[in-house]
Amino acid sequence: MTARAAATKGRKAFVTKALPASKQRSLAGKYAWWVQGLTLTAFAYAFMGWLNESYLYLWDNPIWLNRYTEYAIILGFGVWRILAEHNPYTRKRLIVLVSCVTVLWWLIPWLFPFFEPYVGYLGTQPAFPSLHTPGTLTFFAVLGAVLLFGRRIICGWNCPCVGIRETVGFPFRHVTPRGPWAWRLRHTKWAFFALYVVAGAAVLTPLNSWSSAFVGAFALIVVIPYFASMLASPVIGNRGYCRYLCPYGATFGLLNRVGFYRVDFDRHTCNDCGVCNNVCDMGIPVLALGRAKGRIDVADCMGCGRCVTECGKGSLAFHDVRSVLAPAVRRDRSRLRAWATSRGKAALAQEAVFAAVLLTVLVGSVWLSSAVGTANELSTDLWASLCLVH
Ligand code: SF4
Ligand code: SF4
Ligand code: SF4
Repeated sequence: MTARAAATKGRKAFVTKALPASKQRSLAGKYAWWVQGLTLTAFAYAFMGWLNESYLYLWDNPIWLNRYTEYAIILGFGVWRILAEHNPYTRKRLIVLVSCVTVLWWLIPWLFPFFEPYVGYLGTQPAFPSLHTPGTLTFFAVLGAVLLFGRRIICGWNCPCVGIRETVGFPFRHVTPRGPWAWRLRHTKWAFFALYVVAGAAVLTPLNSWSSAFVGAFALIVVIPYFASMLASPVIGNRGYCRYLCPYGATFGLLNRVGFYRVDFDRHTCNDCGVCNNVCDMGIPVLALGRAKGRIDVADCMGCGRCVTECGKGSLAFHDVRSVLAPAVRRDRSRLRAWATSRGKAALAQEAVFAAVLLTVLVGSVWLSSAVGTANELSTDLWASLCLVH
C-alpha cells in the first residue's frame, strides 16, 4: 500500500491526486527575458507602494501606490498563473491564495476595515492582516490552525508573500538553489526569529522607548529583506525570503515540528527518480529525508503539495490532524448516527441553536473584554510601521 493510499484510506476529501506521467513537469523552463523583466518591474512597483506609504507620501498615498498596490499586482499576475498552471492541485491552491489576498488582505481592509480589539485597533491596521502581529487574536487563531494543519495554512494558501512569489515570482523558480550548502543555509532564519521573539516580547509589555525603538527597527529588518529578496529572485529563486529570512515562517515551522503536520514517505514504492527534490521551491531534500526518516517533518515545509502531486509513484502523502481524527470518526460514525436518530431532528436542531448562541456569547465576551481591558499605549505610527511588513 502506498503512503498516499495508507494515509487517505476512506478519506476522499484529503486525497491529492498524483498527476499522470504525461502531465508531470518537474520544473518550469526558463522564461523569456521580457517576462523576467516584467516580473522585476512588478516587484519594484510593489516596493514603491510600501516606500510611498511609509516615507515618500507622494500624491497622498493613492491606491495605486500604497500597501495595497502589492495585492493588486498579485491579483493581476495571479490570473495569469491560474490560467497557465498545469497541476490541478496547485491551480486550486492558487485560486484560494489569490482570492484570500484579494478579499481578506486588500478589499476588506481597504473598504470595510474592522480592527483588532487588542493591539491592532489603536493603529491603522485592520484586523485580518494583523495575523503577523504578536498578541492579536488573529495571531493566536492562526497559530492554532498551523498546529493542526501545518504551516501551509499560511505559507501555502494565504500570505501575500507567497502570493507575490508564486504569481509574480514564478519565472524564477528554476534558479532555486538546491543541494547541501543551500539546505544548510536555512538556519539563517533563526537569527531573524530571535529578533522576532524579542520584538514580540516588547510588544506585549508596557511600552517604553527601548521597545519602541526595537520594534521600529525590527520592522525595517523584516521589510527591507522582504523586498530586497524579491529583487534578488534571479539569483536566489522566488522563495529566498521564506527559506532564509522570514521569522513568521520560522514560527510556523516550529509548529510544523510539534503539531500534526508532515508528509509521509513510502520507502517501498519510491523509485528514487528525484522529481520531488526538483519541484520543491524550499529546496528541501525530500528524497534523502524520506529515505532516512520515512517522512518529511522539517520546519521548512510550507505544504505546497508539489512533491506530493508530482510523485508518479504515489509515495508521498499529506498527514495532519484529519489523518488522526478520520479513523476515529469512521469507527464511531454508525454509533453517532444511531445516537442522532434516537435524539430526533427537533431536539438536535434545538441543541445546535443553543450551542451557536453560547459560542457567540463566549467569543463576543472574550473579544469585548480584550478590547476594554487593554488600553495599551502603542502609538499609531509604531503599529503602522510594524504591520506594514505585509
Ligand atoms: S515564510 Fe513568511 S513570507 Fe513566506 S509565505 Fe510563510 S509567512 Fe509568508
Ligand atoms: S518520492 Fe516519488 S518523486 Fe520522490 S524520488 Fe520517490 S518516486 Fe520520485
Ligand atoms: S516538501 Fe513538498 S510540500 Fe513541502 S515545501 Fe517541498 S514540495 Fe512543498
